[in-house]
Amino acid sequence: MKFCDKCDAMMMPFKDEDGNNALKCRSCGHIQKGSGELTVSQPVKRTARDKIIVVEDESIPMPKTAASCPKCGHNEAYYWTVQTRRGDEGATEFYRCTSCRHTWRNYGG
Ligand SMILES: [Zn+2]
Ligand SMILES: [Zn+2]
Repeated sequence: MKFCDKCDAMMMPFKDEDGNNALKCRSCGHIQKGSGELTVSQPVKRTARDKIIVVEDESIPMPKTAASCPKCGHNEAYYWTVQTRRGDEGATEFYRCTSCRHTWRNYGG
């Protein structure tokens, strides 16, 4: 059992947003990460969460839609959707020009 550094109340285990074990004070909300492991001072590696997912397998038939290619101006593109990690955001639409194969994403709106 761990107790809060700040107010000596009982610390409750929970998972932080990255899925790591951490402790949270029931009284003041103080958060202690790593539950004993020295991970706090280590640099956080950034992952390319927004990297565009490119479909390389040409054997998968993709639906086409009318979309204007920002690169060559062609008016037809393949499209597919990718669900982002954050559940409160909708799926992101991707387009690939059927002419020049330029790929872009539609943020909607
Ligand atoms: Zn506390
Ligand atoms: Zn194009």
